[in-house]
Amino acid sequence: MDKKTAKERIDFLRAELRENSRRYYVDNAPVISDFEYDALMRELEDLEAAWPEFRSPDSPTVKVGSDLDESVGPNAESGVRREFIQRPHRYPMLSLGNTYNISEIEDFAARASKTIEGGFTYCCELKFDGTAICLTYRHGRLAMALTRGDGQVGDDVTENALRIGGIPRELKGSGYPDEFEIRGEVLMPYASFDRLNAEREEAGEAPFANPRNAASGSLKLLDSEEVERRGLICTLYHIPSDNISLPTHDEALRAAASWGLPVSDKRKICKDINEIEDFIRYWDEARHALPFATDGIVIKINELAHQRELGYTAKSPRWAVAYKFKAEQALTPLLSIDYQVGRTGAVTPVANLEPVLLAGTVVKRATLNNEDFIREMDIRIGDKVYVEKGGEIIPKITGVEESSRVPGAELPPFPKVCPDCGTPLVRPEGEARWFCPNSAGCPTQIKGRLVHFLSRKAMNVLAGDATIDQLYSMNLVRTPADLYDLKKSSLLLLEGWKDRSAERFLDSLEASKEVPFARVLFALGIRYVGETTAKSLAAHFGSIDALGTATREELLEVGDIGEVIADSLLEFFSKPSNIEEIERLRAAGLRFEAEAAGKRSDVLAGVTIVISGTFSISRDAMKDLIERSGAKNSSSVSKKTTYLLAGENPGPEKIRKAGELGVKIIDEKAFREMLPGEDEEPTLF
Ligand code: NAD
Repeated sequence: MDKKTAKERIDFLRAELRENSRRYYVDNAPVISDFEYDALMRELEDLEAAWPEFRSPDSPTVKVGSDLDESVGPNAESGVRREFIQRPHRYPMLSLGNTYNISEIEDFAARASKTIEGGFTYCCELKFDGTAICLTYRHGRLAMALTRGDGQVGDDVTENALRIGGIPRELKGSGYPDEFEIRGEVLMPYASFDRLNAEREEAGEAPFANPRNAASGSLKLLDSEEVERRGLICTLYHIPSDNISLPTHDEALRAAASWGLPVSDKRKICKDINEIEDFIRYWDEARHALPFATDGIVIKINELAHQRELGYTAKSPRWAVAYKFKAEQALTPLLSIDYQVGRTGAVTPVANLEPVLLAGTVVKRATLNNEDFIREMDIRIGDKVYVEKGGEIIPKITGVEESSRVPGAELPPFPKVCPDCGTPLVRPEGEARWFCPNSAGCPTQIKGRLVHFLSRKAMNVLAGDATIDQLYSMNLVRTPADLYDLKKSSLLLLEGWKDRSAERFLDSLEASKEVPFARVLFALGIRYVGETTAKSLAAHFGSIDALGTATREELLEVGDIGEVIADSLLEFFSKPSNIEEIERLRAAGLRFEAEAAGKRSDVLAGVTIVISGTFSISRDAMKDLIERSGAKNSSSVSKKTTYLLAGENPGPEKIRKAGELGVKIIDEKAFREMLPGEDEEPTLF
């Protein structure tokens, strides 16, 4: 691989990992399996090792995945109220090195014995598949509960923690330190999970993909009573070693149990790798009988002095490693195949299966990815197929049990035309998928784009698929901009709509005009521009105009934007229909410029500044900085102008005019010196 290709791939992997990390930790709705995620991470680690010049302290290989939702809060684009107070962790909450391979456990053991002088043992425990929590007890009372957050700062969920089964408000017994931290996992047992999902389906809400996502979503609810109803439990597994004066991790956990804290007794002190393997083998089977999800075994050096000796990398402790179980499989017949058209026109084959129980939930459908996948699997209707839920998301078919094939079983050919609008499908070069090219006329694509536009992470308008169906079938809406032309009188013509529902819908649309630029950009549904990419683009360019006129080179300057995304953006902005749509949305009042958050001051109140040339930051960011200082930003030099702020290559006309009118010309350095504490780059979000 040459340097350029390596950089491209590194950028691509970082963007993919960030986007999926967000989906996993913040949205609680992963779309790829843990196995796939871990494989991408491994590839990135290998590339960064081979090309050290591309290492970065921001890389997902170095930072732990964050569950903090930065779309709200003081750092947020719109200054929306943060839902939980965030507090710093006393010790960073890190991840764990993980492997799916016993031989890598041997490597871990070999590394440990190299550093540790003398003997040591391992404490093997279950890897509980929930969401991490850090509890602080002060004088025997729960003082604080924080989520992992980004590892440095977590959300304060103390109220909620008190509603979780097993977490005591007061400790019992004696001998606990005056103040100490204890960490563990909040879990949703399968029974609570099934009940919750049944309720959600009944209420027409999307079910949670798995108990982990459900636990994590529930811990972040604002209503503590609802948290209690969700039936969460907790199991604790770690006291930071300098919080306690016992010699081993195992003894620390035993002490914690004696104080009434929920600690699992399913752990074992192992002397060597053989004993570790036995433990792994035993629990790979036995875990299926547990009432909650586990996804592996954690192997820790038991002696706390040795733990201290081994210390930490930026991302994980050197004294522990996780062995992850391979995904569970089930065997079930394939009944039929549906072909689903997405909002981008991609056609995805989806298998309808005979319902089967897998990793605690019933599976009825599984993705078949694309035509080549089906062909390579050599799958036929009626075959028994292996289904897996790697990260317990949309299940996948991983194999066919050929011995189960009924003679004469066939596979219906992949459709030649769009199952929705009948347009002949196309398969662009280099694509694994077939597409319906009728993006302007295919009802499923049109409705899919509208649903995406209105979704919670985009414009957050109260409307479900049914509303979009109605608006579409009554010919009221075709593009997002049509939504903002809707009148109450036309909504009242729709079946089941009353004054109140129409008003609520219109109010919600009105409120969406306050949605910050990054989310509007995401809402536009540009191919490959997910939430994270939209944020980076908005922060970098500051406005749709700057983004829309950026060259390929300028786009590629943005961290994590590779050629695929750059080309997709160029194509989007080259289409007159997209520009027309943006103009209509802009006229409706949507935000197409990033707005400044963070500190505003009035240090330059009454001052009018005109900028000219280029600066160390984008021009939009500079205008933003001016406005945040309380000054007014104006586009042309006049008698009212206080300063002409000249960067590199300022316009000669502006310089001449300033000279003529006696307007003082300053450079970026002089301007920044006027701003107290403004020597760092301005944050747009
Ligand atoms: P992790 O889940 O692999 O392991 C670390 C965590 O394990 C700890 O933070 C702790 O919460 C938990 N844990 C459970 N039992 C434990 C025990 N007995 N002792 C110590 N810790 C225990 O790491 P992570 O950083 O939380 O998440 C990264 C993993 O999440 C990835 O490896 C990937 O598998 C998954 N992920 C998946 C996606 C996706 O899209 N599918 C996205 C992001 C992350």
